[in-house]
Amino acid sequence: MGAPRPRIAVFKFASCDGCQLQILNLEHELLALAERIDIVHFLEATSRVEDGPYDISFVEGSITTESDAQRIQDVREASRQLVTIGACATSGGIQHLRNLADAEEWKASVYPHPEHVAALATSTPISDHVSVDAELQGCPIEKGQLVQLIARALLGAVPELPGASVCMECKRQGNVCVVVTRGLPCMGPVTRAGCGALCPSLGRDCYACFGPSEQPNTSGQARLLASQGESPRRVAQRFRGINGQRREFRRIADRLEGRDG
Ligand code: SF4
Ligand code: SF4
Repeated sequence: MGAPRPRIAVFKFASCDGCQLQILNLEHELLALAERIDIVHFLEATSRVEDGPYDISFVEGSITTESDAQRIQDVREASRQLVTIGACATSGGIQHLRNLADAEEWKASVYPHPEHVAALATSTPISDHVSVDAELQGCPIEKGQLVQLIARALLGAVPELPGASVCMECKRQGNVCVVVTRGLPCMGPVTRAGCGALCPSLGRDCYACFGPSEQPNTSGQARLLASQGESPRRVAQRFRGINGQRREFRRIADRLEGRDG
């Protein structure tokens, strides 16, 4: 009898399920992975539900309710490694925009009985609640990065994720810069690589769905966007987007909107 296969679990919090779908989209790789790992909890894919401990837990989604704030503690306790997947889990996701507004007012304007909605006033990343072993950025995550992370985890190695900007990938693709040639408000210079420069490769500007790169020059990026005629408010909105709760993006957006003082 061979060694037991690592027990893998996937958990969902407030999210659209897109990152879990990326796991299912692995298709061919999934068959190979199924021989190496044992998926014992993944409600999106199987009714099999087993208790921990888990060798690796993948967590999608942000924390937006009291019960989820408790549940993530339980997941952490049951998991040897906890890996967050996607912008919701790593930065609070698009739902973090409620942090900047009156969440009660929004609830009242959408639901006839807002008192039944047991939501917190904020949406926060998983790392605000428990320790996290690795973070996969992106909205959704990129399949190749996921496979690499699982493969390294199976070997007991720490994941090696790119820290450089989308600009580096853009150059490797041989793209013509959409900022220089078309004046588009591309967020590539401050956005983490990983997508293969998908949008600029199609002639579009990057809107930073992979979150901040390592040590992003956010002030320089704000000046670049301003020089293209973007108002301070519009520049702030470009940083807010999907990953606006990440410290690096939040700081510059707060400064531009005068929320920092
Ligand atoms: S198009 Fe955007 S991502 Fe590509 S090199 Fe220019 S600034 Fe960087
Ligand atoms: S180019 Fe930017 S917006 Fe487009 S997929 Fe990549 S990181 Fe996301």
